[in-house]
Amino acid sequence: MALNKAVIRSVLEGLYFSGAHRVLRPWLGGVGAILMLHHVRPPRRDAFQPNRLLEVRPEFLERVVASIRRARIDIVSLDEARRRLIEADFRRRFVCLTLDDGYRDNLRYAYPVLKKYEAPFTIYIPTSFPDRVGELWWMTLEAAIARNTRIGLVMDGKDRSYPCATTEEKYALFDHIYWWLRDLDDEQEMRCAVRELGSRYGIDPDEFCANECMTWAELSDLAADPLATIGAHTVNHVMLKKASDDVARTEMRMSSATIEAALGIKPRHFAYPIGDRTSAGPREFRTASELGFATAVTTRPGVLFPEHRAHLTALPRISLNGEYQQLRYAKVLMSGAATTLRNRLRRVDVAA
Ligand SMILES: [Zn+2]
Repeated sequence: MALNKAVIRSVLEGLYFSGAHRVLRPWLGGVGAILMLHHVRPPRRDAFQPNRLLEVRPEFLERVVASIRRARIDIVSLDEARRRLIEADFRRRFVCLTLDDGYRDNLRYAYPVLKKYEAPFTIYIPTSFPDRVGELWWMTLEAAIARNTRIGLVMDGKDRSYPCATTEEKYALFDHIYWWLRDLDDEQEMRCAVRELGSRYGIDPDEFCANECMTWAELSDLAADPLATIGAHTVNHVMLKKASDDVARTEMRMSSATIEAALGIKPRHFAYPIGDRTSAGPREFRTASELGFATAVTTRPGVLFPEHRAHLTALPRISLNGEYQQLRYAKVLMSGAATTLRNRLRRVDVAA
């Protein structure tokens, strides 16, 4: 959201049409990639959809999976990807499919596609979501702005009021409040601000959890399929880097213990919520490994290189982003050209 989408789009177009992604592939392309999805569902018609970059259409997912298969790239579980990295088994390139947060649309729209192609996948669950006490604060913010023509809130101790009647104003305001919230050092402060906003505008914070997220029973059905891996994603979907040592470690440990208690499987894999460098850094990478997770994924963009065997709890991912739902973008992203350029040609990015 901070980056200009038109610029990214034109860079991706440029890479595609210049063929640069193919030329660069032998050394930029890495040995594999972990793809990241959130919602998979048919598009809504609303003009204001600030969280749309977190969703793709089911047909897009199918085209991506089919094109991976056609390219004779293996779709593997995270356990298998880890084995290939550790044993340096790079005879075939591979892709892992991961879905964050456990949205119900994953079951309805993504699962049938994954099943049809027999594609292994991992779903990372913040346990407060199936426990029905999760705060999907980005949805509360979206709903408050969508349903009102003016929004008042306290920011940095001052009363503020903003117009949000037009779609353009709504997008501008969402960006403004979203990044103010994300920049707060204390996540509790952020959550209080959103709770306050929700109660002022009559938005039930539990409505999103109940409507959008899978129940434990649904997760249990899904987990019974050998294609599925259930991974941990903290209890409360917190930005771990902002939390104390104690809270960060407890969030990670408890999420694993809760999933084990509910589903009878101890998760071996973890995803850092939000997952960028403001939310996960060297302390979290160390903790994940101390807690015994076999892998942990960030949202830092990148493909996998042999060197990642030494950084299995700091793995990059490629976002299949709702803003770029064209197959040619996915191909460029997976080729590694776009992300390596963005990482300034560093192959492994695990620093703060
Ligand atoms: Zn998440």
